[in-house]
Amino acid sequence: MTKTEPTAEPADPKVLLSHHLKKLKLPTVLAEYEKQARQCAEAGVDHPRYLLRLVELELIERQRKMVERRVRAAKFPATKELASFDFKALPSLNKVLVTELARGEFITRRENIIALGPSGTGKTHLAIGLGLAACQRGMTVGFVTAASLVNQLTEARDEKRLLRLQSALAKFQLLIIDELGYVPLSQTGAELLFEVFSQRYERGSTLVTSNLPFEDWTSVFGSERLTGALLDRLTHHVHILEMNGDSYRLKQSKARRSA
Ligand code: ADP
Ligand code: MG
Repeated sequence: MTKTEPTAEPADPKVLLSHHLKKLKLPTVLAEYEKQARQCAEAGVDHPRYLLRLVELELIERQRKMVERRVRAAKFPATKELASFDFKALPSLNKVLVTELARGEFITRRENIIALGPSGTGKTHLAIGLGLAACQRGMTVGFVTAASLVNQLTEARDEKRLLRLQSALAKFQLLIIDELGYVPLSQTGAELLFEVFSQRYERGSTLVTSNLPFEDWTSVFGSERLTGALLDRLTHHVHILEMNGDSYRLKQSKARRSA
């Protein structure tokens, strides 16, 4: 590292200032300091408050970028906010519980969520909404369908990089596994998926959505023993979201047709 001597009175401080701020990784301070200086001078704001404004702007921008990174890394299939979820359309769903879950404390407590209900009742929408809320709180989130996860695991195993994928999956603070149950799994697929749940147990939160009630999960995993062990881990600390209702899509298209 080259030593930086304090410059007593540089003729033009801007060049050095720009250099130092870049080195300190304070791009927002760099972009804002002149404008803020003008505004503060006009409004008679003192130096500590001027500096405070600058560092606050830097923090806000840093936070915004961090959330953006988290959302990108999560690989959500769409952007669905909880704010656009119509709870009135699904009276079976506990809105108070969902609002509480959106605060993300279940993730700190490493608890799981299972959303159960037929197709079109908003399971994926809700899962993305909760995932986005977690990203906004700075948590690391991953979103994947059960089918794609099994494909990824099988491929990774064939290419002898299963351990790497498994450790990446274990690192997410919240892993969302959507659409468990749409396709039955092969024995290897079921075992690989089971490993994921097993490795996340009490280490991270998992959110599973499924169109199947628990008693039918055996038909997905093929083995009663495996399903039992999986449900045991998954439901030890769990919040169940009952999403029993009519398909929102169907209702909307019916409403459109009659309009
Ligand atoms: P599921 O995953 O249960 O099959 P989706 O979450 O994919 O259902 O919902 C289907 C479509 O209907 C999506 O576009 C979703 O945004 C919308 N949707 C479902 N339920 C609601 C709801 N209660 N409020 C607003 N939009 C909803
Ligand atoms: Mg879905």
